[in-house]
Parts: sequence; structure tokens; C-alpha cells
Amino acid sequence: MSLKDMRRSDVQDVSACPSCKSPRRSFISEIGIHFRGTEGLNKPLVWVSREVLVCGRCGRAEFVVPEKERQALNNENLVETAETSV
Ligand SMILES: [Zn+2]
Repeated sequence: MSLKDMRRSDVQDVSACPSCKSPRRSFISEIGIHFRGTEGLNKPLVWVSREVLVCGRCGRAEFVVPEKERQALNNENLVETAETSV
């Protein structure tokens, strides 16, 4: 990937929004995912630092949860492990 391509992927439309077909932009994000319910208030957040694609028209956002964080979301006992890896 050339520098021009990298710069383009950072600031330009990456692909069309699957909902409204408008252009999306790529951003770097840090997202904290909560478990639902009152019991979720006592559990640590699962932090995900990833590229997120945001539609400038409808606001739909999309990102991929990495394997370790995905495992933590599937097995709440792994939350501590995933949290320390970010
Ligand atoms: Zn859209």
C-alpha cells in the first residue's frame, strides 16, 4: 500500500454505506462495550481500539471486534484478560 493509498484510507470515503449507499469515512476509535443489565454495572468494560467506518448521511457505524475481545464478550469470565491486552 502506497502512502497515497494510506492517506486516502484515513480520510476519504472507504466504501458505500450498506444502509443508504452514501460514502463513509474511516476513523480510529476506542469503544468501551458494557454488558447489559444491572449486573453489567459491576463488570469491567471491554475496550476495543479499532478502525470504525461512519456514514456521513445516516450515521451507521461499523467496526470489527478482534478475537480476544470477542471471546470476552462471549464469555464474561474472560473480561479481565481482554481488558489488559488493549
Ligand atoms: Zn448510511
